[in-house]
Amino acid sequence: MAENEHGGISIELEHIFPIIKKWLYSEKEIFLREIVSNACDAVTKLKRLVSLGEAGGVTGDFGKITVSLNSEAKTITVTDDGIGMTEEELRNYICKIALSGALDFIQKYEGTEDGAGAGIIGHFGLGFYSSFMVSDTVDVITRSFTGAPAVKWTCSDDGQFDLIPDYEPDGEIASHGTSVVMHINDEGAEFLSEYKLKEILNKYCAFMPVEIYFENVGAEKKEDEEEKPVNDTSPLWQKNPSDCTEDEYKDFYRKVFSDYKEPLFHIHLKADYPLNFKGILYFPKISSEFESLEGQVKLYYNQVFVADNIKEVIPEYLLMLKGVLDCPELPLNVSRSYLQNSGYVAKISAHITKKVADKLNSMFTGDRENYENLWRDLKTFVEYGSMRDRKFYDRIKGSVLFEKCSGGYATLDEYLGGAKEKHEKKVYYSTDKTAQSKYISMLAAEGIEVVLLDKIIDTQFISVIESANEGVKFFRVDAEIADVLKGDGDKSEIPAVAEVFKKVASEGTKIEFDRFKDTTTPAILHVSEEARRFEDMMKLYSMNGGEAFNVPGSEATLTVNTASTLIEKLADKCERDPDLAEKMAKEIYSLCLLSQRKLSSDELIGLLDDSFGILELL
Ligand code: ADP
Repeated sequence: MAENEHGGISIELEHIFPIIKKWLYSEKEIFLREIVSNACDAVTKLKRLVSLGEAGGVTGDFGKITVSLNSEAKTITVTDDGIGMTEEELRNYICKIALSGALDFIQKYEGTEDGAGAGIIGHFGLGFYSSFMVSDTVDVITRSFTGAPAVKWTCSDDGQFDLIPDYEPDGEIASHGTSVVMHINDEGAEFLSEYKLKEILNKYCAFMPVEIYFENVGAEKKEDEEEKPVNDTSPLWQKNPSDCTEDEYKDFYRKVFSDYKEPLFHIHLKADYPLNFKGILYFPKISSEFESLEGQVKLYYNQVFVADNIKEVIPEYLLMLKGVLDCPELPLNVSRSYLQNSGYVAKISAHITKKVADKLNSMFTGDRENYENLWRDLKTFVEYGSMRDRKFYDRIKGSVLFEKCSGGYATLDEYLGGAKEKHEKKVYYSTDKTAQSKYISMLAAEGIEVVLLDKIIDTQFISVIESANEGVKFFRVDAEIADVLKGDGDKSEIPAVAEVFKKVASEGTKIEFDRFKDTTTPAILHVSEEARRFEDMMKLYSMNGGEAFNVPGSEATLTVNTASTLIEKLADKCERDPDLAEKMAKEIYSLCLLSQRKLSSDELIGLLDDSFGILELL
């Protein structure tokens, strides 16, 4: 009979213990994920052997993990009825952990940002040892399915272990399997709570492929309490999309994201070799531009939760979505910066981008009406995605909609096609339907459609469209006088009128003359598209709480309409009653300003006082 043995694991292990404790400190709770996923692997391995007919007398009736809390004894025990280990295996796999690689790795990343983000890197062959983050001592009692004698191994956090070969289990394990007993230390005290353990199981183990039961040894069992696993062993993403119902997708969403609002729709991802990943992405309902742009994409590794919103794996704009991604090929034993540059990750991103674009395109062509109804919710996502990823825009461009001020939606091609006769490759837009209604109605009178781009992000989005569509240019309604608005006849400058406007207009305003078809509008104020966009951009960057008025800077131009009867009158008054002429010019200028933008309070008070003054003259 073999002798009981006392030994020390290795010099390196002694060194590695304090490092593990310190290094993984920020996410201590992952110890449970590591131990339970080892148990899960042990069951999966044995199942495979059974199915290959290589498991001797083992019958198919096994496959259960129990997580048991004993707060009095201060232990957390994870027991499985999986493959188990022989003494030799235990020595090889547990006593001699794959140190060389792991040690190098830890030394390299210790104290770096990558090290701090260790949550993602549970899988570098040290998982078992994470139990020492919360334990003084860990016992492993294991019996191999081969019928070899059971073994008990007890290791303390200084790396000293005792090994009992030919151990006689006292009910701890079944005929095959492993039990890991963690004697929780003071720092791990918070984990000796049913609530806490269930919370962690729910976070990391909710979809592990082997049934997990929770047991609180000290607590009284409620009557009629049925034993139910805490996890769902066959999550929806693993199923074939054709076998899943709408209700199942909705239930899954509700359960995983605790969101009472229904998602707009979902995409079931299933990439085969060599990418080999699965997942479900949901489009949540985004009600406003700024509300919860941050979604939640959960990353899994063979049904084991790794982390939320790993931006190294998922294109940033997709993080606005909610969903699950299971990437069993993901090289998790590497640093985040490696992931970022890895070709595999780039391929995952490209695949997802394509699927999302395909889905949107098929919704657009399949049911345009429904798509238009969803557009307000999709818009921010599509715009943001297009800005972040030109490939995404290129795929989706035919399904990008613009809301028309006159009602309804048009794609870029539809808009340009409809306007061909009047203005080639120009898109007129408004950022504020009410404030700019004068301009909109002047264009509408000539049959020109104006689209509404009233979100801050829109201004940046149009730059993307312009650079991707040769020759296409967007003009805000007040950016220029559209050619169709111009009439025939004398449009030469009237010097006295130019003079008086120069006097009353704010400094730097250019005064120009033109002739409109419309005779009722005396003048129009406009700001060059480039200058305004630049100004908008500056505003966006320096959102420092200043007044948000769109003050036309030096680039504003007042175009005086020589066809206007009022201007004719003004010209006449300039000669005969210069005082009144100045009052008139001021009033016209202020009203032009008012129809272009919101006035500041001083400007508004000035306009009111001047108007009352003019009325008194009547
Ligand atoms: P990893 O799981 O990444 O290989 P671990 O340190 O967690 O690294 O485990 C080392 C090895 O110990 C495993 O690969 C496995 O062979 C063995 N092992 C750990 N836990 C169990 C278990 N519950 N049942 C059987 N073997 C196990």
